[in-house]
Amino acid sequence: MDAQDEDPLPPPAPFMWACARCTVLLRALGGVVEADAGCFYEQLAVARHVVEEHPEEVPPAHTDGCEQCPHYAARGDGDPGGHWAEHRARGLFLPPHIARLL
Ligand SMILES: [Zn+2]
Ligand SMILES: [Zn+2]
Repeated sequence: MDAQDEDPLPPPAPFMWACARCTVLLRALGGVVEADAGCFYEQLAVARHVVEEHPEEVPPAHTDGCEQCPHYAARGDGDPGGHWAEHRARGLFLPPHIARLL
């Protein structure tokens, strides 16, 4: 397999290595990334876990040209499903061009 074209995952936020569940989820994500498999569900699992278990670690809304944040902010419903928070959490463990796809 040729991984030259794939962006490696950035080092995850330090708090994630202090959490057993984060570590398990990140290993699962790293495994599918290395296997060049679709890692959509693994990405969602990590983001969902961070939002539920580490809400204080979820970054604030992006102010550097993110295409997704204004969308979420415009809804004005306080993000009841947590999707905006999941979007922001993705930047903790994914490269920006992947993190901001959702
Ligand atoms: Zn965790
Ligand atoms: Zn954003």
